[in-house]
Amino acid sequence: MRDFDFLQPATVAEASRMLADLVDEVRVMAGGTALMLAMRQRMVTPTHIVSVAKLEALRGISFDPKHGLRIGALCKHSDVARSEIVQKHYPVLAAMAAQVANPQVRNQGTLGGNLCYADPATDPPGCLMAHGAQVVLGSARGERVLAVEEFLVDYYVTALEPDELVTEIRVPAPVPDSSGHYTRFLRTAAEHRPLASVSLVTRRDGALCREARLVVGASVAVPHRLARAEDFLRGKQVTREVAAEAAAIVAEDITPISDIRGSADYRRDMVRVVARRTIAGLFGVEGEPA
Ligand SMILES: Cc1cc2nc3c(=O)[nH]c(=O)nc-3n(C[C@H](O)[C@H](O)[C@H](O)COP(=O)(O)OP(=O)(O)OC[C@H]3O[C@@H](n4cnc5c(N)ncnc54)[C@H](O)[C@@H]3O)c2cc1C
Repeated sequence: MRDFDFLQPATVAEASRMLADLVDEVRVMAGGTALMLAMRQRMVTPTHIVSVAKLEALRGISFDPKHGLRIGALCKHSDVARSEIVQKHYPVLAAMAAQVANPQVRNQGTLGGNLCYADPATDPPGCLMAHGAQVVLGSARGERVLAVEEFLVDYYVTALEPDELVTEIRVPAPVPDSSGHYTRFLRTAAEHRPLASVSLVTRRDGALCREARLVVGASVAVPHRLARAEDFLRGKQVTREVAAEAAAIVAEDITPISDIRGSADYRRDMVRVVARRTIAGLFGVEGEPA
């Protein structure tokens, strides 16, 4: 690995100025789980690292019934999974975070780093999108707030400007009567990363679906909200057949990636299976349709 200077700014503005001065020569580091691998493999060779570890503004988890949840970008996956606030008000997010990777990565990797790396084979982005989450970007120039779908631009590409940091993630207050489910599919039990994921957040009355937000992740370049399947579910009594039909729409409407871990056809098929199980599981109509 190439030698580098390690910089430790004390404020977001100071970090932002360092990033603006050094531009292509610098990388931000949070937990380092993704960055150190990339540096070891010489995929990136920065001369300077800006550590965000001392930025207090990026820490903490808090909840306000009106404004919802705030998760500091430096919170680790294990912080999100163990947070009583998240468990109480956003159980799907807590359950998702508890499944990320393995204990080592959950205890070192941050939510901000996960979003900024924009690796498709990850769990939080799709689940956050299904919750209507926003990403807060800070710099010496001020702050801007983007929906997760605006922040994630493409395969490993985000809307971050060179002088910006992700400072926090905001999730709107939960809607009454809402419930949800997150399902990840692993190709083999030995693999940590999801090959496909489906996040579903609904407002429902027993089997009657009043509203649904359905997002596919991991099998697509960036998590994708499935508007046609959401419209199909809205106002319906969900049966096994309805769940299967909605899942078929989901599979039709995605553009899966194809790589060494799975072809596009395989991923499309797995997304259909995972979507059916997720919808059927949430509405208590598990099993194959007749
Ligand atoms: C073995 C392994 C298995 C994994 N399995 C999973 C999995 O199953 N599910 C899953 O979701 N993820 C998985 N991951 C990915 C893991 O979640 C991320 O590596 C981790 O969350 C990144 O956070 P970090 O703090 O370590 O980021 P870092 O490695 O420090 O940084 C990652 C990138 O984000 C940038 N960055 C970090 N923080 C900020 C910030 N606040 N503002 C601006 N830029 C920033 C860095 O410059 C870098 O480009 C896995 C990773 C490994 C190594």
